[in-house]
Amino acid sequence: MSEPAAIMRPDMGTPFGDRLLGSIRATERAGLDALLVTPSADLIYLCGYDAPPFERLTCLVLRPGADPVLLVPELERPRATASPAGERIELAAWRDGDDPYAALAALLPRTARIAVTDTAWAVHLLGFQRAVPGAEWSAGSSVVSSLRVRKDPQELELLSRAARGADEAFRRLCDQRMDGLREEEVAASLDSLLRQFGHDTVEFTIVASGPNGASPHHEPGARPIRAGEGVVLDFGGTVGGYCSDISRTVVVERPPRGFSHVYDVVREAQEAAFQAVRPGVAAEEVDAAAREIIAMAGYADRFVHRTGHGIGLEVHEPPYLVSGNRQALEPGMCFSIEPGIYLEGRFGVRIEDIVTVTETGAQRLNRATRDLETVP
Ligand code: ZN
Ligand code: ZN
Ligand code: ZN
Repeated sequence: MSEPAAIMRPDMGTPFGDRLLGSIRATERAGLDALLVTPSADLIYLCGYDAPPFERLTCLVLRPGADPVLLVPELERPRATASPAGERIELAAWRDGDDPYAALAALLPRTARIAVTDTAWAVHLLGFQRAVPGAEWSAGSSVVSSLRVRKDPQELELLSRAARGADEAFRRLCDQRMDGLREEEVAASLDSLLRQFGHDTVEFTIVASGPNGASPHHEPGARPIRAGEGVVLDFGGTVGGYCSDISRTVVVERPPRGFSHVYDVVREAQEAAFQAVRPGVAAEEVDAAAREIIAMAGYADRFVHRTGHGIGLEVHEPPYLVSGNRQALEPGMCFSIEPGIYLEGRFGVRIEDIVTVTETGAQRLNRATRDLETVP
């Protein structure tokens, strides 16, 4: 293909030129005529424009052999121009009262194979389909994921900083009293600790005490935490746009009956999955490594979720470590390893680290202790 001229401009130290070129090449390799990117993590990744998803259409149009075009509402033109996208991408604006889908169709062939951002609003996809009725549509993740799954050094640095901040928040939390506090009070402490240790935003703070620990995505509430209970902590936020996500399970004063054995099984499963990670291994094999340990201990049906998910600009993104995913691991991929055992009415245990695939194996980005911590 002929290289589009505009995005070859000097790069000013940002990765967006390479990413735009990479995605145009991937679009061509996939036999597609266009990739339409609406406001999303994909848009931020490709051109640095963090636009809010709205009913007014914003759409980056990528086509093999052509310069990228960013279609924006006229009133958002200044905002788009001021973003990194404004440095290298031709902007086309439409005004309220115009048909933005007709403006988009003018950039596309009448019969085309077009991929669209996975999270595009249905109302926009319906508009696209009306405007280009002869086209064949597919999910944009098939193109953009192949780029986003391999993190570059700058992304790895932000993910590492986020992980270290989450580690430090956990360390400090372990010095604080939990006995007698409500789950939501501990969640508030986690929130301020994450910010104290470098997080720009806090996205979730799961604090699941006693029997609530058996619900993997428990919403922290007014339940008072008591001595002799386990507490599942799963929290994260963002640093420079990149996510942290860590789980640790602690006990207050002393473990409940049967807890220590379950904890050891989960810890061993987490380690086995980590040891299974290296380039070329299928994602599902990492899941199987954790699952085998838990199954041997008799808890196969109590491990009710996949072993992990990719992480980056989004807290859940490809690759998914799940049975059936034969995708081969590659250096630079980052994902969670988070096996758990959930015993209804009693307690749950989950241990989660973010890891990255290296040339020869794997490295943990989270370094917080996986020894069972006892808190006052
Ligand atoms: Zn989760
Ligand atoms: Zn988590
Ligand atoms: Zn996770």
